[in-house]
Amino acid sequence: MTWNVEEFVNAAAVTVDELAAYVDESQRGVPRVVGRRPPGELAERLGLARWIREGGMTVDDHAGFLRTYLAEGTRLHHPAYLGHQVAAPDFPAALADLVHGVSNNPMAIYEMGASAATVEFEVLRWMLGKVGFGESGGGVLTHGGSLANLTALLAARASVAPEAWTEGVPGDLALLAPASSHYSLTRAAAILGLGERAVMPLDVDGLGRIDVARLPEALERVRRAGRRPMALVANACATGTGLHDDLRGIGGFCAANGVWFHVDGAHGASALLSEKHRHLLDGIDLADSLIWDAHKMLRTSSLAAAVLTRREGDLDAAFRQRASYLFYGEQGFDLIGRTVECSKAELGLKVFLNLAWRGERGLGEYVARRYATAHRFWELARERPGFECPYEPESNIVCFRYGTGDQADIRERLMEDGAFHLTSAEVGGVRHLRITVMAPATDDKTLEALLDRIAGAEEATAGSR
Ligand SMILES: *Cc1c(COP(=O)(O)O)cnc(C)c1O
Repeated sequence: MTWNVEEFVNAAAVTVDELAAYVDESQRGVPRVVGRRPPGELAERLGLARWIREGGMTVDDHAGFLRTYLAEGTRLHHPAYLGHQVAAPDFPAALADLVHGVSNNPMAIYEMGASAATVEFEVLRWMLGKVGFGESGGGVLTHGGSLANLTALLAARASVAPEAWTEGVPGDLALLAPASSHYSLTRAAAILGLGERAVMPLDVDGLGRIDVARLPEALERVRRAGRRPMALVANACATGTGLHDDLRGIGGFCAANGVWFHVDGAHGASALLSEKHRHLLDGIDLADSLIWDAHKMLRTSSLAAAVLTRREGDLDAAFRQRASYLFYGEQGFDLIGRTVECSKAELGLKVFLNLAWRGERGLGEYVARRYATAHRFWELARERPGFECPYEPESNIVCFRYGTGDQADIRERLMEDGAFHLTSAEVGGVRHLRITVMAPATDDKTLEALLDRIAGAEEATAGSR
């Protein structure tokens, strides 16, 4: 059936109305930040079985359904959303999702979306410039940081063991990474056929940061174990703590020893856009490969992540596709040789429209403000009795403890009534509460309320015992 365009216009209009109301009340912090209704009850409430069985949704039904659907979910625009590192998307990127949904140009091959492919290419060139890889670098956008890490490590493997693609993986490869690195790296090692046991932990300080002075010992351990280093991974920043490894120190060591240097900048690379915070990434240009998520701090929806390599050929070698991609060759370029995915979404458009509307400066300010708000939380928490902060935050991620009880219980109570959405993480082997400041609506008032709530709730519980 062809579209009834008028019906589309009407349905889209009510969708926009519902979304606008949703964002507006979310930003003002009116409703609960998180819905926790059990799935059975929710399926009933949404009438899922009936809709699937009978169909026939009208514009009015659609509006009603959407209202419940949105209300029962998690509100990332809400000031009390302090949970996982997922963007409160900006609307230009949201509109890009709609454009993709309608036009569907899966542009991994140029002929399936010339505009989308060209936009992605220019976004990548911008990113390469920001990182300092410039004209000789290569890149591709993938559906998320985990896939990006896998792709980058595939490039590392191709560099160290090019025969692996056809002959299988040699048994002596090792991946050097701190225990604080994202789990997708260990997974990637397993998927790439190295096996989880090939991940050899680097020495770290009490906060999980790589101890640069002890890198020679780590390399020695790898060699004594009869292995070859495939890559060494550093965090920029670490998911749990939001702290940064010393990229310049580590990069220098890797260069001197011929070790592939991979920087996981999924969360933190966006700080390149903030003058005040750029120094945290000093040495990032020494990386052989890097990942950078746009759906974290560049405010696109999930997922849009960049894999960037210092030498373009390294990325092409990852999948053993022999091709030299002309920037603007007559046929265009096919990015399919650089990705696990075959078809892929118009990811570049999301990043591009945010850039086009807000400018690099606007996005940099967004990052700087979230980092400043998180720092403010640390200042406030430190002054209060019972709160303990193990380090000064460098990004928008802060870990802390309240009292001596089970921190997971505190989190559970805050989540239960939908007042706050926060997470927890281990720092130095000890469970901490963790906030990530993502929503522009989060302000000092929110932070004070959270601290009040934690202290008040805990005292109430202690009193009732
Ligand atoms: C979020 C994150 C990832 C994973 O990214 P996804 O897009 O969620 O797959 C990897 N590394 C770090 C450091 C992260 O913070």
